[in-house]
Amino acid sequence: MSNLISVVIPVYNEEESLPKLFDRLLPVMENLKRPFEIIFINDGSKDSSLKILLEKFQQHKNIIRVVDLNGNFGQHMAIMSGFKKAKGDFIITMDADLQNPPEEIPNIISFLEKGHDVVGTIRQKRQDTFFRRYASKLVNKIMSRITGFAIHDYGCMLRGYNREIINIINEAQEISTFIPALAQKFAVNPVEIEVAHSAREAGESKYSLFKLIRLQFDLMTAFSIFPLQVMTPLGVLIFFAGIFWGVNVLLGGLIITCLGILGEYVGRIYQEVRKRPRFVIRKFYSD
Ligand code: UDP
Ligand code: MG
Repeated sequence: MSNLISVVIPVYNEEESLPKLFDRLLPVMENLKRPFEIIFINDGSKDSSLKILLEKFQQHKNIIRVVDLNGNFGQHMAIMSGFKKAKGDFIITMDADLQNPPEEIPNIISFLEKGHDVVGTIRQKRQDTFFRRYASKLVNKIMSRITGFAIHDYGCMLRGYNREIINIINEAQEISTFIPALAQKFAVNPVEIEVAHSAREAGESKYSLFKLIRLQFDLMTAFSIFPLQVMTPLGVLIFFAGIFWGVNVLLGGLIITCLGILGEYVGRIYQEVRKRPRFVIRKFYSD
């Protein structure tokens, strides 16, 4: 019996992309000639995404599962809820908008079969706006510095994980997280491969600039306390600089920045101590 493969796909208002996604993903999975399941997570969509997903579920009950969350919990929490339901020995995550070509899945699986526990990906010829590409390059660099992870493309969610890693991720209880970094933290034998990338075919990106910046702060505070640690030496430095130049304005800006960083962590602690459920599954559709 060969390994079961689970494909986990978060969906937020993707009614325009879903039909095309089925058309391309199903043949790829069937050609693998091994058991598989596709788990869609409806992350509180306001369009007809859930209806489309449930229609597909009715047609292919043996392979399609739908986790219906009772609100919008964000891409990463949606994927976490899918991980809880996934039964596969190998787990693939991907976006619903076809920016990640499903045709790359067999290659990712071949690397999992070679014994890699995490198969990360680097998008070749990214088809996003110039601003998105440039900002993301910068952010990738900063994040790798701060977190200390050798991840070259944080944003690409077309990735593969083996069962051991998913079991560990399932034990992590943190509120806001970033799955590629969480996996990297526990990976023993990770690898990064190149994958193709396409422009979003339909619908719009679900990430506003503000949401993207939020995500970076979450990534930073979830995986590093370096910004906290750097505040004291920075303060001392500025203190001595101030003796010579009296840099009042500079000091004001610095203090507020440091307070902001502190606030990020305090906010995180607050979220954690509330211990609210991270996501709520309204219904799980499976055979
Ligand atoms: N997504 C989600 N919940 C959200 C935002 C996005 O489940 O709150 C899903 C979305 O439907 C897509 C994936 O996460 O399948 C990536 O989102 P998007 O394509 O908008 O991000 P981008 O490619 O612009 O980074
Ligand atoms: Mg996208």
